[in-house]
Amino acid sequence: MLEKIVIANRGEIALRILRACRELGIKTVAVHSSADRELKHVRLADESVCIGPPASGQSYLNIPAIVSAAEVTDATGIHPGYGFLSENADFAERVESSGFKFIGPRAETISLMGDKVSAIKAMIEAGIPCVPGSGGPLGNDDEENLRIGREIGYPVIIKAAAGGGGRGMRVVHSEAALLNAIHLTRTEADSAFGSSTVYMEKYLDNPRHVEIQVLADQHGNAIHLGERDCSMQRRHQKVVEESPAPGLTEEQRREIGERCAEACRVIGYRGAGTFEFLYQDGRFYFIEMNTRIQVEHPVTEMVTGVDLVKEQILVAAGEPLRYRQEDIVMRGHAIECRINAEDPQTFVPSPGRIDNYHAPGGPGVRVDSHVYNGYVVPPYYDSMIGKIICHGDSRASAIARMRTALSEVVVGGIKTNVPLQYDIMNDGAFQAGGANIHYLEKKLGLS
Ligand code: ADP
Repeated sequence: MLEKIVIANRGEIALRILRACRELGIKTVAVHSSADRELKHVRLADESVCIGPPASGQSYLNIPAIVSAAEVTDATGIHPGYGFLSENADFAERVESSGFKFIGPRAETISLMGDKVSAIKAMIEAGIPCVPGSGGPLGNDDEENLRIGREIGYPVIIKAAAGGGGRGMRVVHSEAALLNAIHLTRTEADSAFGSSTVYMEKYLDNPRHVEIQVLADQHGNAIHLGERDCSMQRRHQKVVEESPAPGLTEEQRREIGERCAEACRVIGYRGAGTFEFLYQDGRFYFIEMNTRIQVEHPVTEMVTGVDLVKEQILVAAGEPLRYRQEDIVMRGHAIECRINAEDPQTFVPSPGRIDNYHAPGGPGVRVDSHVYNGYVVPPYYDSMIGKIICHGDSRASAIARMRTALSEVVVGGIKTNVPLQYDIMNDGAFQAGGANIHYLEKKLGLS
């Protein structure tokens, strides 16, 4: 078993991991930047180590400092959370070669899935449906690239193999613009991600974002825990997530879910993971795999009753999965609203002191947040200050609970996107269910 875990993250996910460790009787070490001494999990952890100045590059992304913290505290494992080093294969490698358990997949799996071209190849081999595309990196032969474009059919999208965070992509509507777009995306990808490898895919004009949660152990067992619909996005960033996806049938869920579980067995996946798909006209198209716990994991926890973070830790410790596929039953509906410290109209971050804080509550309401009265939101990191998750026996009751929760929450002293979330909960198209990934930006007049 893992006796002591370093939590290599901050904010709400660090607190979430700490809670899971406490339930499992595992000691915790909070590693934090000098700007984060007042974080709630730092106060609650058994030990804490300051690993550097506020800038993430010198603290939360500082591999030697984090590994040293694990060494000096005699920890046995490191949980990377999401973001920061969670999908960094070098980090996973360093952690394991230093004698600690990395709570996530093997470094080779992270590398395989971190390169979108190799990920798509592996997924096609494993029987996962992908977006029609070049099937590999684009070369420098213009004629050949024009031929690929014609074969796929316009519009197409040029994507960086090493891209992430919604960056390194360009939509091309006609053949005349193709070669220039490939050139530009290559140049940008080279400077942003250090790799100029790009590939081409059909651009789907009206998709939803539907993703499948999986759990796999080190003994060849893998299960899926249904799907999440994360189509409410702004600049490719998820704003609202829910499970199940409106309109998806049990049959469709079983079919795509089983394929993902099988793909985990084929690639020897271990831990929690997510297969992200675009979903259009009743069909799934794989876009990428996230080899970590995700922000939106609580909606799956609320409908399945499975504690994903606890299971993630247990399988990293070498335990066999405690659930079989038939144990996973989805009950009711759950919705998550991300709460950000930002202006609800301009989206400009709004760090500062929270001088009045009241969390919502009541049946089916869960709040995952590290903030408290008097907490100062630092300006250095992501603006998300927490998540409200509401569960109900139906989608309508989950929405009604979320409206009530959003009307109760008080975060004084800073601006938050609570008014925007309230607006979304009252939106007719959201209430109807099944809006596509462009809907929110259109509603906001951004596209
Ligand atoms: P990232 O790793 O940067 O998040 P993804 O490959 O997951 O990149 O794509 C991010 C978003 O870009 C998707 O959620 C979708 O909105 C859009 N997108 C990506 N590929 C396509 C495509 N083939 N057709 C339409 N939209 C796409």
